[in-house]
Amino acid sequence: MPHLDVTIGLVVGSGGVLLVDTASTPAEGAELRGQVEALTGRTVTHIALTHGHFDHVFGTAAFPGAEVYGERSLPDYLRREREALLESAVRHGTDREQAEQAARELVLPTRQVAGETEVDLGERRVRLVHPGTGHTDHDLVVVVPGASPSDPTVVFCGDLVEESGEPQAGDDADPAHWPGTLDALLALGGETGRYVPGHGAVVDARYLRAQRDALAERFGTAT
Ligand SMILES: [Zn+2]
Repeated sequence: MPHLDVTIGLVVGSGGVLLVDTASTPAEGAELRGQVEALTGRTVTHIALTHGHFDHVFGTAAFPGAEVYGERSLPDYLRREREALLESAVRHGTDREQAEQAARELVLPTRQVAGETEVDLGERRVRLVHPGTGHTDHDLVVVVPGASPSDPTVVFCGDLVEESGEPQAGDDADPAHWPGTLDALLALGGETGRYVPGHGAVVDARYLRAQRDALAERFGTAT
């Protein structure tokens, strides 16, 4: 999505359509809904929120009726941080009216993921996994096994991985555990996996390892 270069995921099964993150504003959410319907001829039935930062969750209200999945501490985070998310959105260039509308309409997850859960989209099973802490304490990734053994596994990484800029470690990040969490992502996707970052273009295992090494060098690693 153009506003903050957020990368959105879409997984389509015979019985359901899963959206990974909902973009940065109500207007972007509505635009996204139009794009999904144009692409698939279907409506979104499931949403996975990779974490609670405004640029990944402020479009959720555009998808009424969808089951919304988040890591189990995400509802508390969103309730607690509603005002801070609004102000962060404005600081990052979001129109104040859009940000206020998003905060007012903020959608809390209807399904909470403790560790890991599986969602059956119909001939397409996906795993929602909390691989550990890193970018936040409630990062959730979406793992989509290939349809055939020769297809790569796709992992939607949220902001645990960034391609269009440096990984962002704010006050709510856990830098010391982040490298270990990237090792967990590499185990989920494997050497041939395709890794979809929270911002920017799809990357490979080598890229993840380089980002893990850079984080470990800068912040050290927890033992
Ligand atoms: Zn983030």
